[in-house]
Amino acid sequence: MTLVSEPRATTRPATAFRAPGPFDPAHGHEQVVYCNDQVTGLRAIIAIHSTALGPALGGTRFFPYPTEEDALADVLRLSRGMTYKNALAGLDLGGGKAVIIGDPDRDKSEALLRAYGRFVESLGGRYVTACDVGTYVPDMDVIHRETSHVVGRSAEHGGSGDSSVLTAVGVHTAMRACAEHVWGQASLRGRTVGIAGVGKVGRQLAGHLLADGAQVVVTDVNERAVAAVRDAHPEVEVVPDTDTLVRSPIDVYAPCALGGALDRATVEALAARVVCGSANNQLADDGEGGIGERMVERGIVYAPDYLVNSGGVIQVYDELEGFDLDRARHRVEGLFAATLAVLSRAEEQGITPDRAAGHLAEERIATVGSNRPYLPRH
Ligand code: NAD
Repeated sequence: MTLVSEPRATTRPATAFRAPGPFDPAHGHEQVVYCNDQVTGLRAIIAIHSTALGPALGGTRFFPYPTEEDALADVLRLSRGMTYKNALAGLDLGGGKAVIIGDPDRDKSEALLRAYGRFVESLGGRYVTACDVGTYVPDMDVIHRETSHVVGRSAEHGGSGDSSVLTAVGVHTAMRACAEHVWGQASLRGRTVGIAGVGKVGRQLAGHLLADGAQVVVTDVNERAVAAVRDAHPEVEVVPDTDTLVRSPIDVYAPCALGGALDRATVEALAARVVCGSANNQLADDGEGGIGERMVERGIVYAPDYLVNSGGVIQVYDELEGFDLDRARHRVEGLFAATLAVLSRAEEQGITPDRAAGHLAEERIATVGSNRPYLPRH
């Protein structure tokens, strides 16, 4: 089904925001909605890629895109990624994403977020929003004043709070599965793990790894982040930069900073046998230019980022049932079996883990999913 919604009527006629041109049919999105609110200046795009497995869930990115075309390209790409991520995590969720065009520091206001919340509400639950780059838990609480179709709220508002808690648990769980696959031992005991980026996820991951008996080496461009992890865990070793970390004699490399961590030079220099970290979009070539294949050739086991970092979406998904930390944690522990399944499939079929993960997600959508779009029951 391919359908581009007309912009919803706002209190005043929309003028500044152009209607979308035809989008890349290869993405096959179900619905793309342009949202304009002249009163608040809101300009947003909500993309629903698929609802075959359930409501399309994905965060709202608030970002100063140079052009509308850039914003559209990003939301189409990100929403498709959520379809795969949610399917692979075994959730009853389709994939969606939204972007708000603007500078969050300058343009974010209660009025604008509430106008956005009303657009989310207008989709009747086909799209459920959450935090992403430029949006935070308090923003979800504001959006919640207009719609129930928002997760990633604070505990005071029935949410689960900071999703980095179970994201870090999920990365550690997936890393234990990698250790089982490579070394036949479901633990990082006695291994050295290098973490690039010790922000919210990386810092908590360091704690889980130390408790598991690993040695931890970290690096971060932000001195305060390094100081915070040293305060919490004085036993971690610090190296000056990511380049040094990658060349160090580490067993596992955990990229937990920005995207594009695995480029050609990094993969050639990497000493680790396993790559498993939270950062999104780690393959600098998007999996198309052979970086995944090169890792296979070098005997490096790469655990696909969108599988490994799905603890956060599993955490916020649980809010739909009324958040229960134990239940959510139990679901996150399912990433152990999911990671093993991906790595075994890749090995059996002689394909990259990234491709194997994609096949497993598509199989779940084809077998478990509905062939009709999700329409909420009232
Ligand atoms: P964060 O902003 O709290 O931490 C990122 C850290 O990386 C910061 O301390 C930053 O200084 C550091 N950094 C930036 N550039 C660096 C570089 N070149 N070298 C070394 N360090 C660098 O973010 P986070 O919430 O910890 O998320 C980390 C990654 O995981 C991001 O890619 C994010 O998209 C992804 N992720 C996070 C979650 C979540 O729940 N927080 C869920 C899924 C994916």
